[in-house]
Amino acid sequence: MPKTLICMLLPTLFCSSFLFSQVRVSSEFESGSLGKYEIIDSSKVKISDKDSLKIYSVNIFSRFDPLNPIDTALAPSARWYYFKMTGVKGKQIFLNIKNSEAIRPFYSYDGINFKRFDASENINRNQVFKIFQKDTVYISHYIPYTYSRNQSKIREWAQKPFVKVEEIGKSQNGLAVDMLTITDTSIPDKGKKRVWIHGRSHPSEQPANWHLEALINNIVADTPEARDMRRETVFYIVPMINPDGVAGGYSRSTSTGVNIEINWDRPDSLTMPEVKLLKKKISQLTAEAPFDLLLNMHSQIANSATYWIHTAKSTSGRFLGKQILLSSLTMGDRNYYAPGDQSFSDMGSRYPEGWIWNQFGEKTVPITFETPYTFFTNNPAGEWVSTESLSALGLNSFNAVYDFLKIDGNSRIILEPAKFSKRRWENISDSSKVFFGDNFLKSKKEKSKIYFSKPYLEKGNYKLFVWFVGPAGTTFDEHENRWIKAGIVNQKNSGKFKWKGVAQSGETADAILLIKE
Ligand SMILES: [Zn+2]
Repeated sequence: MPKTLICMLLPTLFCSSFLFSQVRVSSEFESGSLGKYEIIDSSKVKISDKDSLKIYSVNIFSRFDPLNPIDTALAPSARWYYFKMTGVKGKQIFLNIKNSEAIRPFYSYDGINFKRFDASENINRNQVFKIFQKDTVYISHYIPYTYSRNQSKIREWAQKPFVKVEEIGKSQNGLAVDMLTITDTSIPDKGKKRVWIHGRSHPSEQPANWHLEALINNIVADTPEARDMRRETVFYIVPMINPDGVAGGYSRSTSTGVNIEINWDRPDSLTMPEVKLLKKKISQLTAEAPFDLLLNMHSQIANSATYWIHTAKSTSGRFLGKQILLSSLTMGDRNYYAPGDQSFSDMGSRYPEGWIWNQFGEKTVPITFETPYTFFTNNPAGEWVSTESLSALGLNSFNAVYDFLKIDGNSRIILEPAKFSKRRWENISDSSKVFFGDNFLKSKKEKSKIYFSKPYLEKGNYKLFVWFVGPAGTTFDEHENRWIKAGIVNQKNSGKFKWKGVAQSGETADAILLIKE
C-alpha cells in the first residue's frame, strides 16, 4: 500500500510523528556539540501533480559550556555547534539556530570537506534552509579543526629534520599537549631570535588553528625565506593548548568550564593543568633568554582580523610602536587586515601577555591575533573566511614575523641606512612613530642622499620597497606604515650591494626591503 494512502487512512497526529521519525540529529563524534534539538513542524507539500516535498523545521540549541568554577560571574558561551543530521536527503530543512550565531555556517556530507551555506540559504541570521543532496549531513559554525587533525599535522611536521616534537604535559583529561621546536639545528641556538606561538585556548575559534597551521607550513617550508628564518630563529609552537575543550566540542572553556585565557595571574590552585604546564615550559625557556615575540592565536566574532594592541599608558610608547610595527607588517596588501581593523586594550595580568610583560617588559612583544569567522575588513562583498584565505593570511603573518625580527636573509632582505650626512639628516627616536630599529631619519634639506648597503648580495633582480614611517596611532593613511614599492634593482654581479636614495626636506627615511624576483 502506498505511504500517502496510509496517511489518508490514519489520524493526522500519527502521520506527523511518522514524518518526524525520519530526521535525526546527533553530536556523538569528535568535537561534536549540541545542546538539544526539537523538530517543531513537518509537512508534506505537493510541488507538482506527481511530486511532493517533505519540509522539516528544527530548533537547534547550541550547548553552553559548564559554569566557570573559578569565575562564576562569567556567562558560559555556547558559540560552537557541530552536529550531524541523518534522514535529510531530498527534504527541505529549516534550521533555527539558538544560543549562537549562524552567519553562512558550514555543511559537509562526509565530515571532511566543508562548504559554506550560500547567502540564499541563510537570508536571515540564525536561520538556514536547504534541500540536502545526501542522507547524512554535518553542520558546523566553522570548519572543525579537531584534536586528531592537530595530531596528524604534528606527525607530518615532525618528519622534517629541523622540527622536534615534545609532549610538554597532559591536559586535565590526559590528552597530549605537544610543542614543536623549529630551527636550523646545524647552527647553535645561542644568539638566535626566539619566538613562542600558541593557539586555541578557546575551542570554538577554529579559524585561529587553520591560520596557525598555515603559518607553521610557511615556517617549515622549503623556501629561501623559511630557510633564512630557521637559520636565525628558534620557534616554540604549541598549536593546541586546550585539547580537552577542542575534543569535547566546548566553546571557550576546558571540559571543566574554566576559561584558561584569563587565569594567568591566579595561584596554581585556581587554574588548570594546561596553564600550569605552559607557564612551566615558558619559564624554563625564558631562563635562557627572553622571547622576542609571543603570538597568542584566537578568532573573534567581529568581521575583521585584528591584533589586540596594548595601550601606551598600560605599557610604554616604544612598546606600542613595536606592536603597531608588527600589526602593520601583517597587513601585507591589506586585503585581509587593514589599518581600521586594529584593536586596543590595556595590558592585563590575567592574560598570558600580561604575565610575560610583568616579567620581561619591552624585551618581548606578547600579543593576541584574531581571525574572523565570516569575512575580512568588515566587507561582506569581499572575500569570505576560508581555508584558502586563512592560508594567504598565514603567509602575511610569516612575512610580518620575518620583517619584525629583521632576518638577514638572501631573498627577502631588510636594510637600514648605512651612510648619511648628519648635516642633512636629523636622527629621530620618536615613540609616537612606527619604524625599524631605534630611530629613523628626517631630511633637513633638499636632495639629501642616503645610502643602503650589504656586503654580499646574489646577482639578480630585486623588487625594492621603502618603509613609510607613520603614526603609532589607532589608524593611519593608506601610504603610511607600509612597504611602498620604489622600483626594481638589478644586481649585475654577486657581491657588494649599494643603493642610494634621495629625499626632499621634511621627508623621512628608515628601512628598505629587497625581494628577489
Ligand atoms: Zn579567544
